[in-house]
Amino acid sequence: MHALTVQPKQARSLGLRSIDPPVPQSGKLLVKCLEIGICGTDSEIVAGHYGEAPGRQEHLVIGHECLGEVLQAPPDTPFARGDLVVGFVRRPDPVPCENCAAGEWDMCRNGGYTERGIKAADGYASEHFILSPDYAIKLPMALRSVGVLTEPVSVVAKAWEQVLRIGSRSSWHPCHVLITGAGPIGLLAALLGRQLGFDIHVFDRNTSGPKPDLVRDLGAQYHNGSLSSLYLQPDIIIECTGAAGVLVDAFQLLASNGILCLAGLSSGQHVADLDLNAFGTRLVLGNDVIFGSVNANRRHYEQAVTALEKAPRAWLERLITRRVALNDWQQAFDRRDDDIKVVIDFASISTTSAFHDAAH
Ligand code: BGC
Repeated sequence: MHALTVQPKQARSLGLRSIDPPVPQSGKLLVKCLEIGICGTDSEIVAGHYGEAPGRQEHLVIGHECLGEVLQAPPDTPFARGDLVVGFVRRPDPVPCENCAAGEWDMCRNGGYTERGIKAADGYASEHFILSPDYAIKLPMALRSVGVLTEPVSVVAKAWEQVLRIGSRSSWHPCHVLITGAGPIGLLAALLGRQLGFDIHVFDRNTSGPKPDLVRDLGAQYHNGSLSSLYLQPDIIIECTGAAGVLVDAFQLLASNGILCLAGLSSGQHVADLDLNAFGTRLVLGNDVIFGSVNANRRHYEQAVTALEKAPRAWLERLITRRVALNDWQQAFDRRDDDIKVVIDFASISTTSAFHDAAH
């Protein structure tokens, strides 16, 4: 069967390769891949900056944002043939640490976790894949056109949950929220923020393309230009660019008892001038919290499905700005100005090979 693979840490090694189809396993789901979403982490892996192959394998199958259709399901699970399914990204470390043992693999303490399509485990960008029902969620059929967004929404659901948990340290009535970066994570953070009833402001450097309207259509405000001259005192900031200068400028705006969540990763070189004494003083005197958030556990995937069901379907569909047929996979990795979420359509491929039958 076909799979998109890389040789980790080697730029330009991405290719559509033929690999052995999966052997159905008892107790596991056999899934046909329908769509794979591409994000910044995939671009980092493709550029050779990130990613690790499993065991002694030379190649890593990429793809951690998936939407699939169940082909075979064990009888004693909530899944049946034909169901829409999304696989989780992270698997707990084998020790396990106290968080992984509690099902909070997104908070793994020893770094021994694996991540499908990213770290020491093959991803979902293959015609078929095997999935443990413990690391999968069933989606309503009505989410067929947008279900590939479940994983990025789960990441944002976790970030929001953590912000609100931290906020519960005092009597706090947050109102204004600033989101920096109007990529998929920023826009989905804005969506969830609106669902929570907050006044949302999104800052991005783009002045044209689909982003300003997507933000306005949520009932939120779009800003660009200079972040430091924004007339706003946000109680919550969700930083989705990963750029140091944006973080520094955003922090200056934060209200007292404010919470700044870092949800963006960037391997680029972002150097910012920062007076650490003044920074620390402001943080202490303002009771401010700056924290990072990564990945998601089952609870966040469940919250993601609820958020997707509640959101205007047409708005979500506009986030998927390009669907690329698997045979044209290279095009999915050429960034275009108006791209938000680019998706590789695996359902477009005529299945060239079935899967190995376990009985043979
Ligand atoms: C994924 C997360 C993952 C993180 C770090 C992100 O792109 O959405 O699930 O934990 O990369 O590898």
